[in-house]
Amino acid sequence: MECPYCHKSMEKGYLNSPRDNLKWIEAEKNKGALVSHFQSGIKLTDWYENQVETYYCRKCQKMIIDVADKIK
Ligand SMILES: [Zn+2]
Repeated sequence: MECPYCHKSMEKGYLNSPRDNLKWIEAEKNKGALVSHFQSGIKLTDWYENQVETYYCRKCQKMIIDVADKIK
């Protein structure tokens, strides 16, 4: 994957969530970590698959996650 900021190649890795689900929730709807389990959002990890493929640019210090297969 090409970094959209510096256009160099990004490193492939995995973002790991050993306990609870890693979930993206819109800023306006986000109510904090205690209730995030019950809120709707884009679930990035699950108990059976607790890591998600992530691309990292060390120079720009940005990460990118492709969520195409995470949206239901
Ligand atoms: Zn970059």
